[in-house]
Amino acid sequence: MRKLGIYVQVPFCQTKCTYCNFHTGVVASSRFAPYVEAVCREIREHRELLRAAGVGEDLAGKAHGPIRQAQGKQEWLCHEAVVDTVYIGGGTPSLLDPSHLQNILDVIRATFVTDLAEVTLEADPETVQAEKAAAWVRAGINRVSFGLQSFTDKELIAAGRMHRRADIYRAVPILREAGTGNISFDLIAGLPHQTKESWRQSLRELAALAPEHVSVYLLEIDEGSRLGKELLKGGGRYSAGAVPSEDEMAEFYEMAQEALGEAGYHHYEISNWAKPGFESRHNLKYWRREPYVGFGAGAHSFSGTERWANAHDAATYVATVQSERLLVEQHEMLTADSALEEELFLGLRQLDGIDLGRIEREYGVTLGARFDRITSAGLVEREGSVVRLSPEKLSVSNEVFVELMR
Ligand code: SF4
Repeated sequence: MRKLGIYVQVPFCQTKCTYCNFHTGVVASSRFAPYVEAVCREIREHRELLRAAGVGEDLAGKAHGPIRQAQGKQEWLCHEAVVDTVYIGGGTPSLLDPSHLQNILDVIRATFVTDLAEVTLEADPETVQAEKAAAWVRAGINRVSFGLQSFTDKELIAAGRMHRRADIYRAVPILREAGTGNISFDLIAGLPHQTKESWRQSLRELAALAPEHVSVYLLEIDEGSRLGKELLKGGGRYSAGAVPSEDEMAEFYEMAQEALGEAGYHHYEISNWAKPGFESRHNLKYWRREPYVGFGAGAHSFSGTERWANAHDAATYVATVQSERLLVEQHEMLTADSALEEELFLGLRQLDGIDLGRIEREYGVTLGARFDRITSAGLVEREGSVVRLSPEKLSVSNEVFVELMR
């Protein structure tokens, strides 16, 4: 059976980090229970809600209809799929009461055919307590993704994070003790006040704690964040004057490549490294264009032929689901051209690269000439029909993608 991923969005945080551009809010905890109720209802009634909203035809509209032929390949009905990954992200979903998380997972099991190989919870270190961690394991959560960002308090404070270095050292043993065998750490390269030495220290401390998986993101300067706004107007609040330069960020990324490689991590996607066998099964679905359904405010879904996103405002989302409606804010039926672009961009993010032969066959196109220029410029490497980003160009992958589009 075809595999399906489920994403659940929990858009609540304790504070707003200075660099954050996500649709998340700091709300009273009394808002959590109604939100979880709405999510459970959306999951239970997703077929009717999607049909009424006019989206997810592959997921809901033709329950046992024929397999569709789309963009040259067969798209199986997600209805006939088995859910093997769940990702509860945010926001800070570890803020929820464990019984809320249990309810969400119970409803998923009752609504879909499931064979859950990977159930991830995003967590912030300061929210981890022994009782919670044990309850997460009982609920079936077998992977915790930690937003650590840095092991340096000065950087954490400047970024507006709630946790401190000591919280990381308190939380990880609690999770291990509870039986969590798959932990992922996120780091951000480019936080205000970060230096080569402090970054090297974060990488050293991370490797010593030996998580199974690591994500390294370059700080995104987005005008939607407080830090981004400040930088754009040349101000100094939020330590905007202490943000490393783009060249420094690229150097931090290369330091991470080296340190994580030496520590035994396999680099499998531009921003992701894993110990053998611990690649994120859920996130691989995004890069491989496999179907996933998102539940909750602002959650995105992909059926194979359509992409759509729920209303991002949590209060609007709850109110509409309570009135048996799903407010969809974005909806795109993919054309063959846009699906092809996705194949190239998402595929090239993976270090294994893309098989041009397969893509040419499935989309009925010829791509050789498009890749000749960037191959001779040293941006990508070719081996037979496989194309992958050159290792030394990973830190500037966006520039490669721009070149590919020219
Ligand atoms: S914890 Fe994450 S989602 Fe929440 S404010 Fe910080 S960066 Fe944004």
